[in-house]
Amino acid sequence: MRPTTAEINLSALEHNLNLVRQMAGENVRLLCVVKAHAYGHGIKEVSKKLVSCGIDYLGVATVDEAVILRKYLGSDVSILVLGSIFKEEVDDVLRYSISQTVADRDIAAVLSESAQRFKKTVKIHIKIDTGMGRIGVWHEQAVDFIKWARELSGIEIEGIWTHLSSADEDEAFTNEQIYIFRQLTKELDDLGINIPLKHVANSMAVIGFGHARLNLIRPGLILYGLYPKADLKENLDFIPVMSIKTRIVFLKEVPAGRFISYGKRFATHRITKIATLPIGYGDGYPRALSGKANVLVRGERAPIVGTVCMDQIMIDVGHIKDVSVGDEAVLLGSQGSQQISAEELAQLSGTIPYEIVCSIAPRVPRVYIDVTPHFRVGNEIPHAEVCGVKKP
Ligand SMILES: *Cc1c(COP(=O)(O)O)cnc(C)c1O
Repeated sequence: MRPTTAEINLSALEHNLNLVRQMAGENVRLLCVVKAHAYGHGIKEVSKKLVSCGIDYLGVATVDEAVILRKYLGSDVSILVLGSIFKEEVDDVLRYSISQTVADRDIAAVLSESAQRFKKTVKIHIKIDTGMGRIGVWHEQAVDFIKWARELSGIEIEGIWTHLSSADEDEAFTNEQIYIFRQLTKELDDLGINIPLKHVANSMAVIGFGHARLNLIRPGLILYGLYPKADLKENLDFIPVMSIKTRIVFLKEVPAGRFISYGKRFATHRITKIATLPIGYGDGYPRALSGKANVLVRGERAPIVGTVCMDQIMIDVGHIKDVSVGDEAVLLGSQGSQQISAEELAQLSGTIPYEIVCSIAPRVPRVYIDVTPHFRVGNEIPHAEVCGVKKP
């Protein structure tokens, strides 16, 4: 009954998906990334909604996540594990008909052996390293690797992909990565090695690097209405899917010169009202926001005062008329004409919006709503220059 919740607006998710579709254009398939509990939004509900909207593929980081989805959604949807796996996980890949990223001969061999035992074919996507330095076959060794992997029984090479390390920061390096990958796929085509799905584009590339879209894209962040770069907000209309809300649980008048919270890091300098909110870093609200972020109450911004505690936060509401116990407090999301974005919280706490939403703890119940969000009028089609496609 604690009123601290993460509200997940599934209509906003659908809206964002439609924008991505417009940007991608015809003939580009969609792999929606739902790893890490769908970036904290809830892997089951988010995936179910995306599948109901007709997407082609779900992308997860681990076999465990894929198994959760397979059990929940049944056999109709394709699921790709984007991470490397251990040998012990291979049988589950076969058992649950999961598509698996491969960049390692040992694992490929074990997959082949397991496929034969299960009398199945396993779909793999070969991961090429073009500059991320994480898992992946170095691009120089890719052709040899693929020639070798093609000969394994029980294996179908369905896809080939690479991952961009700096799409939001370094255009030249990103273009280089895309170039290397496209050269490789061309070389494979010339050799008569036909791999159906070719993919590179994360959210930033979907928005800013049209030539990275190839025939499948892998957006995550923008589906959740968040932006890889804050200045993109001007021209794009992705709507945040998650809001964090609670209610004022305690309120009192505080004279000047009283300390608030652990470590006496804040003292009142006038008579004011301090409200306590039942949310803290134990709920995944960053402690780094102590004394920095705002919360919305009665449509106004109220500053967090003092240190964020494990289960509680104090805000100064002295300037807010008629404030009372039970008032809604919005820590992420909109209230009235005000909005607190994940980008704002990320900037204040020295992180990225991804981490803000991923960090919301399991203790916070996700409440799913499916209502048509308020669209920003007149700007529903993404700006032509930014996304690199012609306006329809
Ligand atoms: C997380 C991830 C994505 C999605 O990235 P966004 O920046 O959230 O769009 C795409 N591809 C891979 C391999 C990933 O790990």
